[in-house]
Amino acid sequence: MASPYNVRVFGDPVLRKVAEEITNIDGKLVQLADEMLETMYAEPGLGLAAPQVGIQRRFFVYDIGEGPQALINPVIHESAGEWVYEEGCLSVPGLYWEIVRPKEIHISGYDLSGNEVSIEADELLARLFQHELDHLDGVLLLDRLDPDTRKQAMKTVRELFIDGDPLAAQAAARAAAQERSQERTKDRGKTRPSKSAGGLTLP
Ligand code: ZN
Repeated sequence: MASPYNVRVFGDPVLRKVAEEITNIDGKLVQLADEMLETMYAEPGLGLAAPQVGIQRRFFVYDIGEGPQALINPVIHESAGEWVYEEGCLSVPGLYWEIVRPKEIHISGYDLSGNEVSIEADELLARLFQHELDHLDGVLLLDRLDPDTRKQAMKTVRELFIDGDPLAAQAAARAAAQERSQERTKDRGKTRPSKSAGGLTLP
């Protein structure tokens, strides 16, 4: 399936830049959100930040199974607890690491209608928000690893995406991810307890 954007992978300098605030929510941004969602579903991924498609704006889209959403100029106000989760990234495709991050967060931002939103998130959704917000600050999941693991991870990533053929690595990872996603869908309801709405608060 052709998607509107190619997801930028490790080594692309845009992934290391701090994105700028969005000052105007207009039709262009809504269209960008649609195209980013299409790209995200095609990969497949649960979230996609604007810098991952080469756009340096503070904005990301996501869907953890409750429908497509977008968050503009997100800010994390509070975080609590600790949660270990095997995290992956479309910009470092095919690789996963166990990463410790806060378990619960309070995040706010704006939706595509310009309404302010305030969300109390935990576990997967909280993880996703932290990961995507990192992208807006030029931070990759590799930066969240402990120094020894990071050293090894950087070596692997450099070999794959810098010395190797990034497009081939990305294509292989995409195929594996699609398989993984199909399996996850198959297993859903069988092994995973049903999740509550997760305290989604919209004012
Ligand atoms: Zn990512």
